[in-house]
Amino acid sequence: MSDYPSLHLLIGGDQISGDGRKTEDVLNPATGDTLAALPHATSDDLDRALDNAEQGFREWRNTSADKRASILTKAAGLIKERAGDIAQALTREQGKPIGEAKGETMYAAMLLEFYAGECKRLYGRTLVRPEGSRVEIQYHPVGPVAGFAPWNFPTLNVMRKIGGALAAGCSTIVKPSEETPASGIAIVQALLDAGVPGNVVQCVFGVPSDVSEHLLASPIIRKLTFTGSTPVGKHLAKLAADDLKVTTMELGGHGPVLVFKDSDVDNVLDTMVSNKFRNAGQVCVSPTRFLVEEDVFEKFRDGFVERAEKIKVGNGLEDGVQMGPMANARGVDGIQDKIANAVDKGAKLLTGGERIGNQGYFHQPTVLAEVPTDADIMNEEPFGPVAILNPMAGEEAMIEEANRLPYGLAAYAWTQDPARRRRLAAEVEAGMLAINTGGVSAVDAPFGGVKWSGYGSEDGREGVMACMVPKTIHEG
Ligand code: NAD
Repeated sequence: MSDYPSLHLLIGGDQISGDGRKTEDVLNPATGDTLAALPHATSDDLDRALDNAEQGFREWRNTSADKRASILTKAAGLIKERAGDIAQALTREQGKPIGEAKGETMYAAMLLEFYAGECKRLYGRTLVRPEGSRVEIQYHPVGPVAGFAPWNFPTLNVMRKIGGALAAGCSTIVKPSEETPASGIAIVQALLDAGVPGNVVQCVFGVPSDVSEHLLASPIIRKLTFTGSTPVGKHLAKLAADDLKVTTMELGGHGPVLVFKDSDVDNVLDTMVSNKFRNAGQVCVSPTRFLVEEDVFEKFRDGFVERAEKIKVGNGLEDGVQMGPMANARGVDGIQDKIANAVDKGAKLLTGGERIGNQGYFHQPTVLAEVPTDADIMNEEPFGPVAILNPMAGEEAMIEEANRLPYGLAAYAWTQDPARRRRLAAEVEAGMLAINTGGVSAVDAPFGGVKWSGYGSEDGREGVMACMVPKTIHEG
């Protein structure tokens, strides 16, 4: 599959396209060329998927945990075997460098492996009362799950939507992003090839708001899981509330990075500059506001700019490219608006700031400094290759600025002071805090946010438990 694959829905295990269904073009963000036509599900298709999911749930929840584990483990193996081909399609439709695309896909497989193991550890507990009665707490799969995944991590996000649910014993209908459909189809196909029944994992596409309204209006769906922007998340949470569906929301962030003068500045830069520009900054946990103690600000600023200017931008399929195009035209337009607004408000543009060329959606790695708090980019997630570097007076001011926004997904801190690390762990409002490391994700640890960054967890044991509900049996 070195060329881009043909696209289809996966309903009841069948690959569905054509028959007069509407289609939309999928574009290559590096060239602007059309890769393929993606069929949209009709209303009947969605109803069929719902009926299948209802039936599939009855079968899958009664499939033994051992069998579920062995099928999911086999699927993880297939994804690993196919990762090279999947990455080719992922880079073509999303833009990221091929190495990142393959790494993401291998990570999605590892996450599934972890979930496969977890489904054998879904224990309840028993409370034995002294007078002889007992209370048994069981955990049951919540029911059919509707998952909506975005385009920035097209294989991993799809896995996060369905992996924990499948381990828990739920059936799933996933809608990957229409902008990156091949990656999602490949993940679902691997699950089907490994033996997940066709009514247990299904994949649909369409106009996002039409698909979500249709699926969420159905009482068959018992859980909604969404990754994307905060406004869309709030809208979907309201739709789910009408039927009191269980909900997991993984929304936007505005990652603060607290750099203290007692840190090794070169080490911070070596880790965090590449982290900032990974996936052209289109990462929900991207480090965005670098809050740097005044004493080391100049050194940090100069080192940041030097490294940013060395980043090789180009087509993600080419050797040595470190940053691909942005994934879509609206991303480039949004970043351009935010940079212009920041400069207008008095920010210093230290490097970058421009689109690259007129083909595809390339943008320069950009560094802004001394950005005033009222600039849009200080308040709205940039979701692009822009870093904000601001000098700060000390710990208290840094924590206050870190917590100023309604977002609370990932935060980062660099300091050698153990007492300060404990204070930061207690006071920084974030779902994930990375101290002296750039990593906030591990298959066996929960991933999710607080405040407007959402609620509920993916990954880790919590990612499976988020798809289960307790049932308490009282025995006299
Ligand atoms: P968006 O929220 O409009 O879209 C994100 C994803 O949600 C897309 O895949 C889209 O197909 C889907 N979506 C949109 N409306 C939907 C609906 N009514 N029902 C179901 N699915 C729907 O955002 P965007 O324009 O693609 O990106 C803009 C912003 O979204 C970014 O700046 C960023 O803040 C946020 N975002 C966050 C993540 C994340 O990982 N948390 C991922 C992508 C985008």
